[in-house]
Amino acid sequence: MSTSPLPRKADIRKLASSGTVLEGLVEIATLERAAVALADDSGVVTYRLEFGMSEEGILSVDGCLEAVVQVQCQRCLEAMDLPLSSRFLLGAVWDDEQARTLPKRMEPLLVLEDTVDTVAIIEDELLLCLPFVAYHPPEACSRKVGYRTGDMDSVVAEEPRKNPFDALAALKKPDK
Ligand SMILES: [Zn+2]
Repeated sequence: MSTSPLPRKADIRKLASSGTVLEGLVEIATLERAAVALADDSGVVTYRLEFGMSEEGILSVDGCLEAVVQVQCQRCLEAMDLPLSSRFLLGAVWDDEQARTLPKRMEPLLVLEDTVDTVAIIEDELLLCLPFVAYHPPEACSRKVGYRTGDMDSVVAEEPRKNPFDALAALKKPDK
C-alpha cells in the first residue's frame, strides 16, 4: 500500500477541488490523545480519506479507518486487543451555524482559515469509535464471570443482640 503523508495543515479547498485521496498507515504512538486513552500505544491505524464536494456543494471528507488497539478489560484489568473500524462522512463547516445546517448523513468538520489537520481527523474518528468499556469474551477472560473469592466461606460472627429495653432504661431519668 502506498502511504501518503498526513499533513497537519492542509488546504481543504485544494484537497476537495483536486479530489485528493490520502491513504496509508499512521502509528498510534504518534497520536497523543489516542495513546493516552489506550492501555498501550502499539499498533497502527490504516486510513483512507477522500476529499471532494457533496451534491449540496459542501466540501466533504469520505473516510474510513481500521485499527487493532490495546485497551484494558474492565473485568480482569488485563490488556486486550480490540479491533476497531469506522466509516465516516465529514462536511466542512466554518462555524456552529453551518454545523447545524449540515445534512444529517454528515458529521461536522470544523475548518479554521480553510485548513484542516488530517492527523486530527484520524485521531478524532479513532477516539469516537472507542467503546466506553471493553471486556474480553467470557471464555478468553482470565477472570471468569461469576468468579468468587474464598472470603465467601468465612462467616462473620454475629454481634450479640442488644436488649432494646437497655437503651430505654438508659434514657429514663432516675426519679427524684
Ligand atoms: Zn478480561
